[in-house]
Amino acid sequence: MEKIQMTTPLVEMDGDEMTRILWKMIKDELLLPYIDLKTEYYDLGLQHRNETDDQVTIDSAEATKKYGVAVKCATITPNAARMTEYHLKEMWKSPNGTIRAALDGTVFRTPIVVKGIEPCVRNWEKPITLARHAYGDVYKNTEIKVPGPGRAELVFTAQDGTEIRETIHEFKGPGILQGIHNTDQSITSFAEACFNYALDTKQDLWFATKDTISKKYDHHFKDIFQEIYDRQYKEKFEAAGIEYFYTLIDDAVARVMKAKGGFIWACKNYDGDVMSDMVSSAFGSLAMMTSVLVSPSGVYEYEAAHGTVQRHYYKYLKGEETSTNSVATIFAWTGALRKRGELDGIPALMAFADRLEQATVKTIEDGRMTKDLALITSLEHVTVLNSEEFIKAVRETFEKLS
Ligand code: NAP
Ligand code: MG
Repeated sequence: MEKIQMTTPLVEMDGDEMTRILWKMIKDELLLPYIDLKTEYYDLGLQHRNETDDQVTIDSAEATKKYGVAVKCATITPNAARMTEYHLKEMWKSPNGTIRAALDGTVFRTPIVVKGIEPCVRNWEKPITLARHAYGDVYKNTEIKVPGPGRAELVFTAQDGTEIRETIHEFKGPGILQGIHNTDQSITSFAEACFNYALDTKQDLWFATKDTISKKYDHHFKDIFQEIYDRQYKEKFEAAGIEYFYTLIDDAVARVMKAKGGFIWACKNYDGDVMSDMVSSAFGSLAMMTSVLVSPSGVYEYEAAHGTVQRHYYKYLKGEETSTNSVATIFAWTGALRKRGELDGIPALMAFADRLEQATVKTIEDGRMTKDLALITSLEHVTVLNSEEFIKAVRETFEKLS
């Protein structure tokens, strides 16, 4: 069979530990035999980030802006223990944080649904995609522990010195205070990313906040979404046969539980943090979840939602057998290859991505899976495979589908 040719390189961001091992296996078994793989390779493994003073992360983000599509392996975010383990010069920042800041993106996470791994919520027939705003609010707060009686005020000083001042509370005794913010620019990017993603995937978009209580702050999010929708997206949504609606977060939560799935749920930063954990665990596992960062300028970065699976890596280093689930990493590659195919007009590349995803799902549905899934599946007569055997099993299924 002739290999599929690519015209534009994918930005390839290699990573750490067990996922780095899976990365190579996936390339060797599932990609290189079929595609004349063109990538611009960036090694974001912690050792190389340290050697380059983290310049490699910045370079990989710049390359993503240039080419438009990246695929990223999970990476270590250093903490004190990693400082000693890797003899680091500095406690380098989270690569995901650096890349997100450079691309100004929104993160979309969607469960990968397979028969035999049923969601706890019985009426969820299709995946629910969580779109999380990843800037501001409580994640960039200023807090004060109030020691005793006194007045708390909210003050904004404009560049010309004029002030806006509001009393927050007259404290009669000790208490606590918190200041949070967001910017029109970031909310606008978030809204545009959500509208574009809904059009891209032809799914309805829901957005919810607590605007009845937060009449200025949350209401401002609602207004920005509505203005952008009316101005730029209404007609496109109608043409695509999809819907945008806003509702109160309480109502959204109730409706999500009764819905069939198959839509995008856009959430403010905190709501998105907790709701994505709820939705993903109700669907089964973090290793069965796709994750893509989408920038308002139309740049895509695909990754797995889980980490580097450190415990499995230490077993691997000792020569012990591992059964690490590679599904999310396979889907990061297929997502990126499909998008590259779409942008460059290479139908064969898009078809390849579809078929590899089908083969991955079918392998599990046929009862061949890694240990994490074997523990939660409703299928009987399951064969538990190790990390490498699973990837080889996917290749077998793929060959049969061809
Ligand atoms: P993790 O790598 O997601 O793993 C946590 C646990 O979840 C594992 O020990 C394993 O449970 C299970 N698990 C996760 N992915 C799995 C898979 N593909 N197959 C099977 N089981 C899987 O999180 P962590 O251990 O907290 O973090 C490890 C490193 O990853 C950290 O250095 C952190 O900085 C980094 N991290 C990176 C990203 C990213 O780059 N996107 C995200 C999160 C964390 P059992 O051990 O019980 O089998
Ligand atoms: Mg969380």
